[in-house]
Amino acid sequence: MTTPTRVLVLNSGSSSVKYQLLDMRDDSRLAQGLVERIGEETSRLVHTPLQGGGAKREKNGPIADHAAALKSVAEELAADGLGLDSPELAAIGHRVVHGGLRFTEPTVIDDEVLAEIERLVPVAPLHNPANLTGIRTAMALRPDLPQVAVFDTAFHTTMPESAARYAIDVETADAYRIRRYGFHGTSHAYVSRETAKLLGKEPAEVNVIVLHLGNGASASAVRGGRCVDTSMGLTPLEGLVMGTRSGDIDPAVTFHLKRVAGMSADDIDVLLNKKSGLVGLCGDNDMREIRRRIDEGDERAALAFEIYVHRLKKYIGAYYAVLGRVDAVAFTAGVGENAAPVREAAIAGLEELGLAVDAELNSVRTDEARLISPDYARVAVAVVPTDEELEIARQTFALVGGETLGGVNA
Ligand code: AMP
Repeated sequence: MTTPTRVLVLNSGSSSVKYQLLDMRDDSRLAQGLVERIGEETSRLVHTPLQGGGAKREKNGPIADHAAALKSVAEELAADGLGLDSPELAAIGHRVVHGGLRFTEPTVIDDEVLAEIERLVPVAPLHNPANLTGIRTAMALRPDLPQVAVFDTAFHTTMPESAARYAIDVETADAYRIRRYGFHGTSHAYVSRETAKLLGKEPAEVNVIVLHLGNGASASAVRGGRCVDTSMGLTPLEGLVMGTRSGDIDPAVTFHLKRVAGMSADDIDVLLNKKSGLVGLCGDNDMREIRRRIDEGDERAALAFEIYVHRLKKYIGAYYAVLGRVDAVAFTAGVGENAAPVREAAIAGLEELGLAVDAELNSVRTDEARLISPDYARVAVAVVPTDEELEIARQTFALVGGETLGGVNA
């Protein structure tokens, strides 16, 4: 009998589904793809077989809902001999954004788990409903197969109350479940573990500051493999300056905008989540474009970059103090992995803290995890490419009884 070793990872958004099929014997990818604009006339499916030399395929035309999207994905996989009815498929792993306080680990999904994810919709109104739709659709397609929820918040549930609680009235906070949950947890977990590996140590032996700098951005302080603080809060709006989000702001700005500018709660939500951050400061949220404009002498772009880096530096300092001893600072995600000027500027001037970046190492472009600090530096600075799909697949596979290469439970 075949031992099932494949895991399908699904990341369902409100109008999109991203997927990857992995073989956990060697962590290899068999296929990946994306369905976007679900529910519109102009839906699109892009499917890429990653083994056997097949070419990328694209289908355009209306895909009515998530059920139709997943059916199309199943057809594409079947055309490559990787059908979802294969006995080699061990499980489906779903990214779920909000797991509240209840879900501290990846969890096999049953009716009770579905109900709990539903109960968390008020704290994640944009994400959890889409994640639930994806799960229900996949369960209808393969009701016999274990389906696992991997939560973006889970890695942060180890934060102590001193970091997780806002200093507001306790009864109000508890009644409305207002506290700091943190997000990007799958990435922070993966990158902190890979950083330990890069240093030749066990995760339990090292303290790491992880800087996940993508379009969304968050920092975390990880002590011995456990998260002790992170910069996102009740929602992904808190913390660092992001592509379109303000990050930290005096909450009184919101009352002021309501009272003085007559803006509604929804208007302010859109302003702070969609029209702020780098895009609000200079009109662009892509760091490549911002660097290009700076090279041409654009002052707004230069100021946006300075504000972005200033906030980043404040968090490095704060998490240095929280951890007491830091073994490594790890940069990851689109900006963290690619933007050498951001890494250089964020670490500049921190020599007294044992932090430095070697210009030559920093300029190397590769997909490999690597150190960019000089040999003499007390604290390692690393670039560690994140891989949320692999982490979800590993956690899913480990939960259904498979042995993973990456040592999720290490
Ligand atoms: P992510 O959310 O992790 O996919 O990151 C997306 C962001 O990464 C984009 O908005 C860009 O700002 C940034 N990015 C991607 N590639 C580069 C690059 N080569 N140089 C600078 N920034 C980049």
